[in-house]
Amino acid sequence: MDDNRQNPSSGHEVALRRIQRLSLHLYTPSEPHSGELSLLPCRAKRNLSPSVESLSEYMRGPHREIQARIFEFFQSRPDLQTPVEISMAEHRQLCMRQITALVREAGIRPFRYLVENPSAYFAIAEAVGGVDISLGIKMGVQFSLWGGSVINLGTKKHKEKYFDGIDNLDYPGCFAMTELHHGSNVQALQTTATFDPITDEFVINTPNDGAIKWWIGNAAVHGKFASVFARLILPLQGKGGKSADMGIHAFIVPIRDLETHVLLPGVEIHDCGHKVGLNGVDNGALRFSHVRVPRDNLLNRFGDVSRDGKYTSSLPTVNKRFAATLGELVGGRVGLAYSSVGVLKIAVTIAVRYSLLRQQFGPPRKPEVSVLDYQSQQHRLMPMLASTYAFHFATQYLVDKYSEMKKTNDDQVIGDVHALSAGLKSYVTSYTARSISTCRESCGGHGYAAVNQFGILRNDHDIFQTFEGDNTVLLQQVAGDLLKRYQEKFKGGTLTMTWNYLRESMSSYLSQPNPVTARWEGEDHLRDPKFQLDAFRYRTSRLLQSVAARLQKHSKTLGSFGAWNRCLNHLLTLAESHIESVVLAKFIEAVQNCPDANTREVLKLVCDLYALDRIWKDIGTYRNVDYVAPNKAKAIHKLTDYLSFQVRGIARELVDAFDLPDLVIRAPIGMASEAYEQYTQHVGF
Ligand SMILES: Cc1cc2nc3c(=O)[nH]c(=O)nc-3n(C[C@H](O)[C@H](O)[C@H](O)COP(=O)(O)OP(=O)(O)OC[C@H]3O[C@@H](n4cnc5c(N)ncnc54)[C@H](O)[C@@H]3O)c2cc1C
Repeated sequence: MDDNRQNPSSGHEVALRRIQRLSLHLYTPSEPHSGELSLLPCRAKRNLSPSVESLSEYMRGPHREIQARIFEFFQSRPDLQTPVEISMAEHRQLCMRQITALVREAGIRPFRYLVENPSAYFAIAEAVGGVDISLGIKMGVQFSLWGGSVINLGTKKHKEKYFDGIDNLDYPGCFAMTELHHGSNVQALQTTATFDPITDEFVINTPNDGAIKWWIGNAAVHGKFASVFARLILPLQGKGGKSADMGIHAFIVPIRDLETHVLLPGVEIHDCGHKVGLNGVDNGALRFSHVRVPRDNLLNRFGDVSRDGKYTSSLPTVNKRFAATLGELVGGRVGLAYSSVGVLKIAVTIAVRYSLLRQQFGPPRKPEVSVLDYQSQQHRLMPMLASTYAFHFATQYLVDKYSEMKKTNDDQVIGDVHALSAGLKSYVTSYTARSISTCRESCGGHGYAAVNQFGILRNDHDIFQTFEGDNTVLLQQVAGDLLKRYQEKFKGGTLTMTWNYLRESMSSYLSQPNPVTARWEGEDHLRDPKFQLDAFRYRTSRLLQSVAARLQKHSKTLGSFGAWNRCLNHLLTLAESHIESVVLAKFIEAVQNCPDANTREVLKLVCDLYALDRIWKDIGTYRNVDYVAPNKAKAIHKLTDYLSFQVRGIARELVDAFDLPDLVIRAPIGMASEAYEQYTQHVGF
């Protein structure tokens, strides 16, 4: 038996051990444990002493109060907290109880915020997702997808009839777009909604198995309504008296009886079953057999059918109506990008806290060192921590822009939000998905214990990369948008705010790299935001110009579809490069706007690490075109190392500033203090 268990440590020894552990958190790189530990030359530089309070005050944003209310509510209700081990059926029921309690007991009404104050809605979604990611998604399905489709695609009559029921959960609903054969290619959906002028109804039908609605959240168990995306068919209105296909429209279709919850006639639902993650959400597959709904159930904001079967729309073509319809659903992507940063914060916090506490090996006859003192661990985690900060500010900006778009309906802002939400959703969710695995590895074997959360985070978050638009598909939208604007620029068109930099970049950045500045390697130069932004933007401009030329060349022989496919990887790199440019610009702005000098200095360090690490990771591109000479590349590498080392010295404060309660962290090894004690208690010691 273990010695400690036979002779329990005295209170004095326990206290000493705790002090020893806690003192590790106070370690700064300029005061290494030992000479051997100085993995990098430690330059004489003033130590940074971040104030967690000031940092977190600056990061929090205006909606911390409502997040705190949510945390307090779930903290006070252990019966509503999701255990690590739970069956799918229980998890689904718990998720429904959680969302119902949030609305009816805690009195938090996400749907009202979605409509009146979207940035507060996204803050609620982030907090709720921190409690259980399934709950965050269940909430998104109910309010943003089902509710959002009614509010944004419908008109006054729909709002009047459905708003309260969606808001108070009397009308739980689904968003039924995806079919078995078509997910990304929404324009190819096959479900039909045929107008019957005799009964003044639409007949919703699944013409073949490929058109079965698939993966529909809330459908397997709880939903009573679905907004169903279907081709609107008008009989006898097409050429030669044939049916006319007016393209994809959304219809409200009741699927279960409001009182008895029994399936309604013509509706068949099957359970999509156990998933890799998100098992608190009940995804189902629906088949409609000539289900009749009143004409009023057409969500008719962008196209309507009169009593005598005539179609009217303010938008002239099927393509324009389709773009307007899908455009209204952009809020889901904004929410996913924002919530994905929330998940990244949790994973990074657990990994950093544990890496500070965990000690393995050390110099001969000296105490073991914290694993975060290893250069490899710093390189894994510190740029990730910097990226988390970068994404925080970028997605905050996206949320603000989205709120502005909802208020003003300004065309330029709409254009900006569409491309930016597609780009940030794909970039951030892919980054988070990769990082959760890295965080797990950073915590060694203990990272693999389910209670330490990485498995749950990884499995639940993974699908963020696919739903609300597959990331590869969305990045192509960003690239397409950049190309469109690139062409418009030559026609004298205007560029929206986020794209503004391309105006200058195209002329200034695309000239030959300056052979003198390509050799500059001083720290002041490398840490100058102008150098960093110029480098990011130069890369984007070059990629844009070169892919435009390639597309033009290949389209002559391959046609536009073939040319696009030939250049696809190039286009994806362009989109990512653009998003990185936007992220850096927003981070630099956030640093400059920070009112507290000390906090500004801390953020500047983190921002420099984000920028230089990105440049270093893509150094081949810069070297290939001599934008960076060999001596400068070396200097960037050294400085990135050094900045990682510096950030490691304040890593504890940087994660504490995320201000995540233990309810959200949950992992015993990631708790704010005394992680080992929590962990050993968890397994029963
Ligand atoms: C848990 C879960 C919940 C969901 N909830 C809902 C819901 O509530 N309502 C709803 O309507 N839908 C829902 N979906 C469906 C989801 O939105 C789709 O799965 C998603 O849009 C991707 O479509 P897909 O599955 O058809 O993928 P596909 O489009 O078939 O993609 C397969 C692969 O092909 C690649 N690919 C596809 N097109 C291209 C292209 N043009 N260029 C390059 N590569 C390409 C993709 O990158 C991907 O790797 C959900 C899905 C899941 C798994």
